[in-house]
Amino acid sequence: MNPISTTLLVIGGGPGGYVAAIRAGQLGIKTIVVEAAQLGGTCLNIGCIPSKALIHAAEEFDKAQHYASGSAIGISASAPSIDLARTVQWKDGIVKRLTGGVGALLKKNDVQVINGFARILDGKTVEVKQADGELVRIRCEHLLLAAGSEAVELPFMPYGGMVVSSTEALSPGTVPQQLVVVGAGYIGLELGTAYRKLGAEVTVVEAADRILPAYDAELTKPVGAAIKRLGIDLRLGTSVLGLNAGGDGVRVREANGEETLLSCDRVLVAVGRRPRTGGWGLESLELDMNGRAVRIDDQCRTSMRNVWAIGDLAGEPMLAHRAMAQGEMVAEIIAGKRRHFTPNAIPAVCFTDPEVVVVGLSPGEAEKAGFDAISANFPFAANGRAMTIESTDGFVRVVARRDNHLILGWQAVGRGVSELSAAFGQSIELGATLEDIAGTIHAHPTLGEAVQEAALRALGHALHI
Ligand code: FAD
Ligand code: NAD
Repeated sequence: MNPISTTLLVIGGGPGGYVAAIRAGQLGIKTIVVEAAQLGGTCLNIGCIPSKALIHAAEEFDKAQHYASGSAIGISASAPSIDLARTVQWKDGIVKRLTGGVGALLKKNDVQVINGFARILDGKTVEVKQADGELVRIRCEHLLLAAGSEAVELPFMPYGGMVVSSTEALSPGTVPQQLVVVGAGYIGLELGTAYRKLGAEVTVVEAADRILPAYDAELTKPVGAAIKRLGIDLRLGTSVLGLNAGGDGVRVREANGEETLLSCDRVLVAVGRRPRTGGWGLESLELDMNGRAVRIDDQCRTSMRNVWAIGDLAGEPMLAHRAMAQGEMVAEIIAGKRRHFTPNAIPAVCFTDPEVVVVGLSPGEAEKAGFDAISANFPFAANGRAMTIESTDGFVRVVARRDNHLILGWQAVGRGVSELSAAFGQSIELGATLEDIAGTIHAHPTLGEAVQEAALRALGHALHI
């Protein structure tokens, strides 16, 4: 077999891999991307995008039902219904448009895409089994590992039948009558909420003693309250023991030690994701690891020269925008630019209802990091725009150094706050102080005014509270 030669070979066409390839193409680097499934990876095909589409559809249906039972703003509707097959088709259409767009961008930038499963032979050689079974060998100067992650399986309750991962949950044929969600993290709460709005009875089982354990309790309180209002049954401090013998329920051990049965016709297991490190010859490189993830430095170099790793394969935070930023940087370094991956903050958004945004340090994290910090909240209950969109739950919180007022972090919870992540990220990357934000004119009436007011409040002179 005659090997193909390239400068950069990317394994994985997800957000990390495809962005690296586009940028490499723009910089004139001869690049090949190998993708075993679909371009766009987890994010575009079975993650970020389809989940946000399903969440939106569920929200719209929930709103229609709300109108059907009368509403304070005077809108009424008669019994709404949802055609789930059309919803899934609509969602698939968005995915197709986006993944098609990725293919077009790669082509435009002269990147060669090979559809097939890559197996590493050594740090410069990869063998690809294409869909028709044909093998291709590729030699490269630089090997970029961007193979992503996979859902963690519970050994005593493997995926299959009524036990599903987020992938199956994003293309439902039917809405289950009774859904048990295992894990109250990102996926469990985003999709658990969507299924509840689509009409399922939902029970969420979480091993920890609170929801979204990665965030602080004050921030997740409005989410917890909304979940209760929606009628989701939340079982905290509860561990799953397995399916019952009849296959129509899940046995759990509750916080008080009691064993109970939760009857259900579907179980969504969402207990985390782990780097996809097995089955494609990665171990043959004997790279330094960081737990289950490939260890990288601040340029995404692995312990082997000219072998790079990005995105979920390189561990937490497993977020698409981090993978993309790393991919873009690696392409630039290979092109000879001086780059390091040292962001001041990587935003994280949980698309629950209300949404949660975290950028930079929370008050607790600032204290742990040794800062003498001040923090202040501004509640949406005092924001005019929030009232006009019928959503006054939540707040914006700022954290800043006490001595020079440099902003260290922002957190927000509320309807639509995901869009505030841009302002939060920019203020931290640009080194803004409380005075900078307080002195910026924010348009009225917008949720963004709560950002300015939080900064004003931290300075001791909020205007609207
Ligand atoms: P991936 O997107 O996983 O891409 C890796 C690609 O490599 C895959 O296409 C795979 O087929 C391919 N591959 C693997 N091995 C091989 C091989 N040997 N040969 C050839 N190809 C191979 N993140 C956010 O930031 N925001 C969100 O809202 C969000 N929502 C999510 C919702 C869900 C339900 C899930 C599951 C994840 C979500 N994420 C979200 C996380 C996000 O999807 C990931 O962080 C992101 O996709 C990681 O990008 P990546 O390029 O590292 O890997
Ligand atoms: P997660 O880490 O967010 O949450 C997993 C939850 O499961 C945790 O609360 C954990 O305590 C709980 N848990 C673990 N084992 C358990 C058990 N045996 N029984 C009960 N509870 C258990 O993981 P996820 O929700 O599966 O999401 C995976 C990753 O995907 C996220 O960490 C994130 O990186 C990414 N993601 C991001 C977004 C977003 O950015 N909006 C959305 C979805 C997924």
